[in-house]
Amino acid sequence: MITAAARTKLNTGLNTDLFIDGQWTPASTGATFPVENPATLHVLAHVADGHVADAERAIQAAAAAQAGWAATSPRQRADILRAAYEIILDRTDELAALMTAEMGKPLAEARGEVTYGAEFFRWFSEEAARINGDSTTTTDGTNRILVTKEPVGPCVLITPWNFPLAMGTRKIGPAIAAGCTMVFKPAELTPLTALALAGILAEAGLPSGVLNVVTTSTPAPVVEHWMSSGIARKISFTGSTSVGKILLRQAAENVMRSSMELGGNAPFIVLPDADLDKALDGAIAAKMRNMGEACTAANRLYVHRDIVDDFSRRLAKRMDQLIVGDGAADTTQVGPLIEQAAVTKVRILVQDAITRGARVLTANETIDQPGYFYPPTVLVDVPADAEMNSTEIFGPVAPITIFDTDDEVIRAANNSAWGLAAYVYTQDLDKADRYSRELEVGMVGINTGIVSNPAAPFGGIKQSGLGREGGRVGIDEFLEYKYTAMPITGRR
Ligand code: NAD
Repeated sequence: MITAAARTKLNTGLNTDLFIDGQWTPASTGATFPVENPATLHVLAHVADGHVADAERAIQAAAAAQAGWAATSPRQRADILRAAYEIILDRTDELAALMTAEMGKPLAEARGEVTYGAEFFRWFSEEAARINGDSTTTTDGTNRILVTKEPVGPCVLITPWNFPLAMGTRKIGPAIAAGCTMVFKPAELTPLTALALAGILAEAGLPSGVLNVVTTSTPAPVVEHWMSSGIARKISFTGSTSVGKILLRQAAENVMRSSMELGGNAPFIVLPDADLDKALDGAIAAKMRNMGEACTAANRLYVHRDIVDDFSRRLAKRMDQLIVGDGAADTTQVGPLIEQAAVTKVRILVQDAITRGARVLTANETIDQPGYFYPPTVLVDVPADAEMNSTEIFGPVAPITIFDTDDEVIRAANNSAWGLAAYVYTQDLDKADRYSRELEVGMVGINTGIVSNPAAPFGGIKQSGLGREGGRVGIDEFLEYKYTAMPITGRR
């Protein structure tokens, strides 16, 4: 049920039931849970609160649909994705408003996410038609080796709240292209965009049972039911490293294929020769996109001693000028954090850094509004042992640490259990090459603060995850290789 106030604002006929086997259906218990707007604290909607019985219905639907779906032609699957891409773009304003309402990001960023999220459907509509195999001959010339690719089978898809549309399309797109059916559990804080997406895919012609969405306020039993079902052949998870580890343990039981897009702790390194204007633009982009609530967010800023005063002063000024407020207002540049616990966590991390000697350069004014706001903050002289250096801040706080040498900063940057993204600002090609090789991460931005792109293989190393989403390799996560040996008879 969408609340009356939200309906007039969002102008949406969004269904808030579970989506199973092509039908909108209430939870078997009849239960619902509320979805809140983090900027206003108003309840936007009550969505179906699925449990194990619903998880069972969903996985059975995915199992029943798998063989028929795998037998569809690549062009059929491509056309559905392409149609969904067009519908998403047609509804940009509506989807952006929905995301801003349930997640808090400013409307301009929400519109950007609609374009970015939709592009995964366009990209994988093109990839669907190019699932190529391989053919070769054994080295002794006796056998032909034929390599073909097949869909993995029913997949479990779990997404976080920070990019409600794109985290879904980044998994659903390749799964559809590859011919896999799915059970999908979006984050309980932002289920509305996922439900809108399910409606769009049905409208685009996705057959019943291919995508089944279960919203729930109790993710653990629902997901565990799928993981232990023996039906699901793959888990694709985006979220925290701690939950990713739980799911990897569960995946081990049935030896399921696993893709894990987990937490990050990106270093943002500014060398003394950097173009400072560009570095400041990049720092704002890498730090403030999504209010800092991104796995790729610049978490540790390392700035060379020669330029640190200039850089920090200018960054603090830019951060102080950002307009904080309800993302639905056109002028807003920084929205609220997702929930009170996020604000408390950021506050504790900042206090810890200050206690250890860090200095605050920004005005740090309290935001006098009901939502979960935290002011954009720049800290300098952040010591290495500050908690925020080894924790994802997930908020609008930029901690700056001074460095002197390349060796020192590369060592510090790599001193992390995570390895998702890193950013380097320099005009020296040799240095750019060295940092790109030596930083232990899956993605490096050289003179850019944004690395995400549907055409690129997104993902991390170390405890940031397993596998890649997007790019040429993204579809491989949903395909099994099969090799057929055939003796060569007659003339070789
Ligand atoms: P989270 O791990 O708390 O939740 C992610 C999803 O897992 C949600 O759908 C949640 O309901 C579900 N979940 C929670 N506990 C579970 C359990 N015991 N069993 C099964 N499912 C469970 O993460 P979050 O707070 O939603 O998102 C923030 C995290 O996601 C950050 O660590 C961020 O870095 C990471 N993230 C990573 C990427 C990436 O591509 N690497 C992208 C976005 C976010």
